[in-house]
Amino acid sequence: MTEIWLGLGSNLGNREAAIRRATDLMPPFLSDIQLSGLWESKARYVEDQPDFLNAVVRGLTELGPELLLEAIQAIENEMGRDRVTVVPKGPRIIDIDILLYGEKIIVSDRLVVPHPGMRERKFVLLPLLQLDPSLVDPVSRRRFSSFLAELPPQGIYPCESTGYHIPYP
Ligand code: AMP
Repeated sequence: MTEIWLGLGSNLGNREAAIRRATDLMPPFLSDIQLSGLWESKARYVEDQPDFLNAVVRGLTELGPELLLEAIQAIENEMGRDRVTVVPKGPRIIDIDILLYGEKIIVSDRLVVPHPGMRERKFVLLPLLQLDPSLVDPVSRRRFSSFLAELPPQGIYPCESTGYHIPYP
């Protein structure tokens, strides 16, 4: 069994329902699942699109990295994500990325793990650190919390249901 971390995002339709449904579809290949809080953020990269809701899922799997990628892509497909017409970094019902696969470092045509964007994205780091504040980057051996501390403001809010209404810096 390997401990893995997935990043989830949605900015179309009922975003919270999409994140919960995607998580509900994971037990066939993921056990001991933990879902972080939900975080709302302005779209980055392609800015003219609805705000995103993001979360992180942690779990244990027996699948290797490539089969895990296929399993999460099957969920994206089942939830109606059209891989052909989708605008890169544009609106999507659900996006699932492999953030970490144990401590494995993978660079192949299909997979880059740890996910290359994760150290600069508060919408990844904040939910990730909710689940494990002391998690360490297997590449740099630095704590992810130290990357978070260096980032500029990114306008990210914990979801309203948590009672916070102030953006995290
Ligand atoms: P996206 O449109 O963001 O879902 O990107 C999907 C593509 O990114 C897939 O074709 C994957 O092969 C590739 N990819 C590379 N690294 C990763 C990763 N860590 N997690 C998910 N997809 C990845």
